[in-house]
Amino acid sequence: MGSAAVAQLARRGLSVLGLDQFAPPHALGSSHGSSRIIREAYFEDPRYVPLVQRAFAAWRELEAASGESLLTVTGGLMLGRPDSGIVTGALASAAAHDLPHDLLDAAQLRHRYPQFTLPNDVVGVLEPRAGILAPERAIAAHFAVARAHGATLLLNTPMLAWEPSDGGVTVGTEHARFTARRLVLSLGAHAAQHVPQLAPHLQVQRNVLYWFDAARNGAQFAPGRFPVFIQELSPQRSWYGFPDTGAGIKVALHQQGEITTPEQIRRTVNDDEVTAMRRIMREMLPDADGAVRTTSVCMYTNTPDFHFVIDTLPAAPQVVLASPCSGHGFKFASAIGEVLADLVMDMPPAFDLALFRLGRLTV
Ligand SMILES: Cc1cc2nc3c(=O)[nH]c(=O)nc-3n(C[C@H](O)[C@H](O)[C@H](O)COP(=O)(O)OP(=O)(O)OC[C@H]3O[C@@H](n4cnc5c(N)ncnc54)[C@H](O)[C@@H]3O)c2cc1C
Repeated sequence: MGSAAVAQLARRGLSVLGLDQFAPPHALGSSHGSSRIIREAYFEDPRYVPLVQRAFAAWRELEAASGESLLTVTGGLMLGRPDSGIVTGALASAAAHDLPHDLLDAAQLRHRYPQFTLPNDVVGVLEPRAGILAPERAIAAHFAVARAHGATLLLNTPMLAWEPSDGGVTVGTEHARFTARRLVLSLGAHAAQHVPQLAPHLQVQRNVLYWFDAARNGAQFAPGRFPVFIQELSPQRSWYGFPDTGAGIKVALHQQGEITTPEQIRRTVNDDEVTAMRRIMREMLPDADGAVRTTSVCMYTNTPDFHFVIDTLPAAPQVVLASPCSGHGFKFASAIGEVLADLVMDMPPAFDLALFRLGRLTV
């Protein structure tokens, strides 16, 4: 969110300073692991659809500006029982926004995607435009655009504190204090530390990514033949995966990890966790159950309703909040950068932000 914001603000001709405690892209936050799903028939709420549609276009614009390949279309399969939130939600968004999609029953799914072993009562919503974003390359591309438009990026420079001053803000680091007219806080899992109003409402959750080699017939998991997918295994329990783009078949559980903090998060993955994931692979995607190539630990920053916070601070409207994103924000970053720039410049955002208001949490 921060890299998108600095790119947008610099492009609009503002004088921009970007600070990060590390040097993005890095593996200590929420935006690493080489791939993120982007999808359009958004099961979480149809109100996300206009934002993600703008994000698709903005990712393509960023590709053109940076010369980087960032978005690979693979199609996306939302799997679950007909009454599951994933299926009903994807269909609701598709209907509300007239999105291209196919609803496949179990027999059709087996025929089209024999990689899956699916129960008879599972259906799938297939959306053709979904795909994979490359998060590290996307962050680097946003940084390149920001620098090309004159932004200063101070990396490995933690913000120690911020305070309102003369209608603007002052930000303190170890060696300097900076004053600015506006501040965008896109702190990911660290948001609670610097925005006390958010603290009681946020939970940082540890989530593990796994990369498996195919056990057999690896070609069937190539991007042309295997889509990104999310499957509701039971209410409140989902997993998702990606085709093999060279590093293995990546899979993960969604919203299942332990609650933690950025300081205390357990960064190693134990054998029991791998075994539990392998059990799901054996049941649902048996040919993908080969050797584990690697794992990675990442953080979700969840709100109680799992929607984002994108808003100005009521007590300090010169401060714009750009996260938390409840484990599903990356796909929107290119568009959220534009929204943040609108809020910084006191321009009416092009999207309805009602879903993301801070006030819904603090009342
Ligand atoms: C395992 C996993 C899988 C996911 N899958 C998907 C997916 O498929 N699709 C999707 O759309 N989304 C997905 N998400 C969610 C998405 O990746 C996140 O919502 C998004 O990347 C969060 O971006 P952010 O900028 O808020 O946080 P981050 O990328 O973590 O950035 C926050 C930055 O703030 C910096 N920072 C914090 N405190 C300070 C400070 N005091 N001073 C200076 N810098 C500071 C940090 O160093 C960090 O670089 C996934 C997330 C995880 C963890």
